[in-house]
Amino acid sequence: MKILAVSDQVLDRVYTLASTGQFKDVELILGCGDLPYAYLEYLVTMLNVPLFYVPGNHDPNENSAKKDSFCEGGSNLDLKLIRHNRFLIGGFGGSVRYRPDGTNQYTQTEAYFRAFRLIPRILLNRRKHGRGMDILITHSPPFGIHDDVDQAHIGLKALNWLIRFAKPRHLFHGHTHFYMNNLAKSETVINLTRITNVYPYKILDVHH
Ligand SMILES: [Zn+2]
Repeated sequence: MKILAVSDQVLDRVYTLASTGQFKDVELILGCGDLPYAYLEYLVTMLNVPLFYVPGNHDPNENSAKKDSFCEGGSNLDLKLIRHNRFLIGGFGGSVRYRPDGTNQYTQTEAYFRAFRLIPRILLNRRKHGRGMDILITHSPPFGIHDDVDQAHIGLKALNWLIRFAKPRHLFHGHTHFYMNNLAKSETVINLTRITNVYPYKILDVHH
């Protein structure tokens, strides 16, 4: 399955590639947070494929009465685990808490309790499908992987736990930005899980 994954930065290049048919074999869009919903809605309209996304720490709390608080034509996967095209796809939005009044920000402990809410569905999938999860989309990176030392960009330890427990084959995240002059890598493999920072966009091919 060809996936277009995006996060954190609106790129003119993505608009151009989408409008000139360069993404025509993309079968699914994944949004890893901190993007204006108009950008995601544009991609859904142009590519006419499903979109799953999680909110980032700069996104609003979803409220069905407020039009700009969710992405039209997409599904918010925060703390959900769904089956799409035979892939089991889970989502975990938000980042570590660095401001007391910030939205979609969680202390390390709060993040664990959020991750625990996925347990019943993971166990059910294991019974039904023989595995808990194939793809996990998050905004934050896990702790110690593609994260940073400043308060806002420390990774969530709950995600390291979730990787160990659910054993997804892929984790896609955003939140930490890498630039050309920075040697940090955007891909790390931990046991069975390939962790990819998709910032600002990546085309990925995942197989069953
Ligand atoms: Zn962020």
